[in-house]
Amino acid sequence: MSETPKPIPSDEGDLIARVRSAARQEQFLEVVSAEEARARFERHLDLKPLAAETVSLADARERVLAKDIVAAVDAPPFDRSNVDGFAVRATDTVGAADGNPKVLRLNPEVIACGHMPTEVVTAGTCTAIATGGVIPRGADAVVMIEQTELIEHGTPRIELRRAVLPGQFISYAGSDIARGETLLMHGTRITAREIGMLAACGLDRVEVVRRPKVAVLSTGDELVEPGRPLRPAGVYDSNGPIVAAAIAEAGGEPLPFGACPDEAATLEKIVREALASADMVVLSGGTSKGAGDLSHRVVSRLGEPGILVHGVALKPGKPLCLAVVGNKPVVVLPGFPTSAIFTFHTFVAPVIRAKAGLPPQAEKKVTARVPVRVTSELGRKEFVLVSLIEGDQATLAFPTGKGSGAVTSFSQADGFIEIDALSATLDADSEAHVTLIASGKQALDLVIMGSHDVALDVVIGALADRGFSARTLAVGSLGGVAAINRGECDIAPVHLIDAATGEYNKHLAGPGLSLVPGWRRMQGIAFRPGDKRFEGRSAQEALKIVLADTSALMVNRNAGAGTRVLMDRLLGGSRPAGYANQPKSHNAVAAAIAQGRADWGLAIEPVAKLYGLGFLPVAPEHYDFLVLDARRSRPAVQAFIDALRDKTTRERISALGMQPTN
Ligand code: AMP
Ligand code: MG
Repeated sequence: MSETPKPIPSDEGDLIARVRSAARQEQFLEVVSAEEARARFERHLDLKPLAAETVSLADARERVLAKDIVAAVDAPPFDRSNVDGFAVRATDTVGAADGNPKVLRLNPEVIACGHMPTEVVTAGTCTAIATGGVIPRGADAVVMIEQTELIEHGTPRIELRRAVLPGQFISYAGSDIARGETLLMHGTRITAREIGMLAACGLDRVEVVRRPKVAVLSTGDELVEPGRPLRPAGVYDSNGPIVAAAIAEAGGEPLPFGACPDEAATLEKIVREALASADMVVLSGGTSKGAGDLSHRVVSRLGEPGILVHGVALKPGKPLCLAVVGNKPVVVLPGFPTSAIFTFHTFVAPVIRAKAGLPPQAEKKVTARVPVRVTSELGRKEFVLVSLIEGDQATLAFPTGKGSGAVTSFSQADGFIEIDALSATLDADSEAHVTLIASGKQALDLVIMGSHDVALDVVIGALADRGFSARTLAVGSLGGVAAINRGECDIAPVHLIDAATGEYNKHLAGPGLSLVPGWRRMQGIAFRPGDKRFEGRSAQEALKIVLADTSALMVNRNAGAGTRVLMDRLLGGSRPAGYANQPKSHNAVAAAIAQGRADWGLAIEPVAKLYGLGFLPVAPEHYDFLVLDARRSRPAVQAFIDALRDKTTRERISALGMQPTN
């Protein structure tokens, strides 16, 4: 067991003082609307692009053009042949046909690329020319070599059997890029395509906007740098890397300052360093008004005009703090990852884009139906992240629903809907406008909604190898059953026990809905290795011991889970200590036992193994797939079933500790 040793207070008075101080939540003095927050911030900001600097083409990728590029040359620079053939006068070819070949005399020249022609094409003559060759004086068309015959005796001549029109197979000077044309606009982000155009105009360097340097600093005693082992009670610093990457995407140059513990003097020193070396500083965490939250205190000491906004009527994102020091923006994002990235995109990214010379990002919206009821807090504008799914009749927007503490909410969402500060709910089946984030939604072949399992990722991987993409929404078995009955998904992975028969999943199939067998997962008692109450015993023996041992603490499962049904059967009506602790996943059960917050619980074997726990098998759980018959013939559904039955897939599933069902 690996609890963090908590400092023991010297006396009870000390403890009371510390609890008071931790619980004291200063009120936000003034919570303002998102619009007001932005207006106050912008009043103190210079949103003009930074000065230009010159970089070589090799360094120009991803930079932003500072000025319009006006082409100084034509491309092609001369009239150019598009084929290998003969430069001719089109009038000389009129009437040429199979029964009436025209004969043209060859001029004593072969025009290769890079050489100026010397001979003039006069009436009745032609000149051999290579692809890319300069059209000679007198010629106005090119005939392809394939449509000619060389006459090898006598004067060098060719015979042609097809007439050509003037201009045939010629690219005229300036037809690609015309001298004087505005080729690229300022504010364009340079990619390989723009580099090609710049090079075609002969430019080897280009003026770009200096990238705003943005210092990134995470705060919190709990933070651990990715790549290091996670200590007990530690959390990986995900905001730092996410924010740094988002800064680069917004056209800035991130300066990572790592994670700083909640220690005022250290934090102030680092923030001052960051401010000195960057155009802008973005902190995250420590912005709530609790006693341990230092970031806003430190920011308030940095200089004028100082903090402009602290507290925005937004969810997620209420504790956002916006400040300006001198002319440099200093922002404290909320610590919760989804809140942090959301407020970053709303308030910070537009500032970076403006300073980087990029135009504001156009909002792309789609209309979708929200099939479930969404509750919201009155008085705060609420943003709800959603995944988009193409339903039979309409596009559906499902709230991703992991809350603002989740790291994955933002990255897995397609967009968000806004719920007005004055409404408390959005009714099920309402129409909503979804603002797309990132590149928006991609076309998906298959929608899978239901319970998630690690082995499902194996099947989806095999599906991807077959060229089909799938979106998985982990909504639990019951959520999957509801979704497939509404036609919102193609496949629903489920593991639900029929309390009447003790059988799994069979009761869920019915007209139009069939069950495709998946695999079994052994459920059993998980415990810390070495615990004599379990080690070396059968599940029944161990159970008898712990039910008699008042010091044994269990961890239960949520109502509705198949594993909970099993637990209640095992307990047969007794309610041992810990029964009310009811997390929603096998992982949460295993983590509680591994960290010593509980001594035993029911989990599936692969998860128990993953956490280094001992395991006493009890009964297998069946994990199967509900499939809509009406969609069964779809190629993606077929490919899924095929992938599921594939020998290699089954071997991989077995390697994870599951037993594929026949
Ligand atoms: P705070 O705003 O400091 O009160 O933090 C709120 C929550 O966000 C806590 O659960 C923190 O552990 C978490 N958090 C704060 N900063 C980070 C970060 N850089 N990366 C991941 N989680 C964080
Ligand atoms: Mg913190």
